[in-house]
Amino acid sequence: MIEHCPDERTARTARLKGVYMVSMIRNLFGGGGSKVAIDPVCGMEVNPRNPSGGDLVHEETRYFFCGKGCRLEFQEDPAGYLSGEKKMEM
Ligand SMILES: [Zn+2]
Repeated sequence: MIEHCPDERTARTARLKGVYMVSMIRNLFGGGGSKVAIDPVCGMEVNPRNPSGGDLVHEETRYFFCGKGCRLEFQEDPAGYLSGEKKMEM
């Protein structure tokens, strides 16, 4: 089985509020003064300086993960998660 995120409920709430997309855009452009990365699998904020799940480069973009489980999930189907078609199952 896959490890799930430590705080799944927070991630879901953030996603509902659209924080996910806002943070993602903020990350892409490096503005906003926010130094967090968004886990593309679960939508959690991850400290890019010390990502608990490590990082992964996909098509010249570096992604950070809250946990190893998310990184492995992403590795299996990066395009699916990036397009938003695929979401972590709970
Ligand atoms: Zn995650």
